Amino acid sequence: MKIAILGAMEEEVAPLLKFFADANCQMLETPHANNTFYSTTYNGIDLVIAYSKIGKVHAAISATVLIDTFKCTHLLFSGVAGAINPDLKIGDVIIATDLCQHDIDITAFGYEPGFIPGSKTFMKTCPTLLSVAERIAETHSLKVIKGCIATGDQFIHSQDKKDYLLEQFKADAIEMEGSAVATVCDAFSIPLFLLRSISDTADMDANFNFEEFLDTATKNSSAFIIKMIDELSSNPACK
Ligand code: SAH
Repeated sequence: MKIAILGAMEEEVAPLLKFFADANCQMLETPHANNTFYSTTYNGIDLVIAYSKIGKVHAAISATVLIDTFKCTHLLFSGVAGAINPDLKIGDVIIATDLCQHDIDITAFGYEPGFIPGSKTFMKTCPTLLSVAERIAETHSLKVIKGCIATGDQFIHSQDKKDYLLEQFKADAIEMEGSAVATVCDAFSIPLFLLRSISDTADMDANFNFEEFLDTATKNSSAFIIKMIDELSSNPACK
């Protein structure tokens, strides 16, 4: 097992890099494809950590490099998202069961929003990693729900757009990278786990909330990812 840990923004992976540095893990930095990839070993498991930069294209490049160049066998995504589901409050955690690209629109040719011929509207995450996360969630102090995450190349800050995402995709949360990563993992048959902590509620105050709560949300998502790594690394079958 070689685990990729990917975020979109530097802030999303900074708590993870700090954790492994504090645990005295030797970190090797490899520049590649306009990015930096951080390799280390923790509890006998090889890890490669990176942040892609914002958006679907950057996320797809980094996921592809992690899988095809660094030969990672599993991918865990850690980051923040806007809430669509009213049960999700700032700081809560959502684990993706499936993801879609809400900004794909070739409806002019009679297709459903989000659908690309030869592909699928909803990409699933790995059920095995999901069940590991469910066990962790039972003992975790934060509220954790499972659900559908919609991805698109826009920061959503409008009630109308939220209503559309709920009605069209039954989305629980919104972000800008997840479905791109899921599409890459699906193409390479790589198990994906994707978790986001809520930084805002995607409404008219979203950009202010995002700035205020980014730090809390990234700490929440990183703490859960570290528990996942601890769980996976303590299972001899995973090594
Ligand atoms: N403040 C940043 C830009 C953040 S863009 C800067 O100045 O560089 C928002 C990021 O957080 C994206 O990576 C996206 O995945 C996630 N995100 C959080 N809330 C979101 C929302 N309401 N809509 C879309 N993406 C959101």
